[in-house]
Amino acid sequence: MPPRKKKQQKVCRNCNRVVDGEACVVCGSNNLSDDWAGYLVVIDPKNSEIAKKLGIELPGRFALKVR
Ligand SMILES: [Zn+2]
Repeated sequence: MPPRKKKQQKVCRNCNRVVDGEACVVCGSNNLSDDWAGYLVVIDPKNSEIAKKLGIELPGRFALKVR
């Protein structure tokens, strides 16, 4: 097995979502940042206070801070 390289994940500046490709799958934005901090997994946005605070309406993986 080859050693696994740490991949720098990017975050959408528009909606804070962690993006795997070159564009955000939710809002279609390619305004991505690799300078971010904090990792949040939202499973049930309707019952999550932190999701409400960040304006998250869909489940997924998000960054808390994006520069
Ligand atoms: Zn987005």
